[in-house]
Amino acid sequence: MALRNDFIGRYANLEGYSVGEHLIEDLAGRNAAGALRWKVVCRRCGNLQIMDHERLAPLVEGRNTQKSLFCSNPACALSRQSNASETLTDFRRAERLEAEQAAKAAEEKQRSVQAQAAQQHAASQREEALRAGFRKYWHHEMKLAVRLGIADLEPITLNQWKELGQNVREEILKRVEEQPQVPLRLEFKTYVSERTYRPGRY
Ligand SMILES: [Zn+2]
Repeated sequence: MALRNDFIGRYANLEGYSVGEHLIEDLAGRNAAGALRWKVVCRRCGNLQIMDHERLAPLVEGRNTQKSLFCSNPACALSRQSNASETLTDFRRAERLEAEQAAKAAEEKQRSVQAQAAQQHAASQREEALRAGFRKYWHHEMKLAVRLGIADLEPITLNQWKELGQNVREEILKRVEEQPQVPLRLEFKTYVSERTYRPGRY
């Protein structure tokens, strides 16, 4: 801000000017070197600072210096302490938090990818085991149908096989092993409703 054409001796009269939220209220005598000193009041907290003219005048005139005058009351929001340290603390806290969240998200993503892969692997292994069991049963039945000339022997389907409980499938495969010459002639309706194997039903 341009100064008035108003001088006290060789010093510009700074009374009534502002620097940011500070008001230059009045003269405060002279320093040891004989230069003027000013009373500078914080408009936020009313705190009074006595400042040398040499330091204050450039702040009044400078366009970019309006925020460079801090209140000397450390509890005031306009103090350097509260400005600088809180801003820095906040910044560091935010930075840390952001880094933590990013790390956590990356970790979770990796975990979920791994879990998903493990799940898919387990699922495909289960599916493969299921199909292998079914093929064994199906070939057993078809082979005997041809060998024994049973025209109406119709194995259950893969989907029906899947519908059976694990116990039932295991019992059926056990029976295939134990009596390879005897067709099972499974009736899906019977087994799907019971889900458990009863040897007498074969
Ligand atoms: Zn203040």
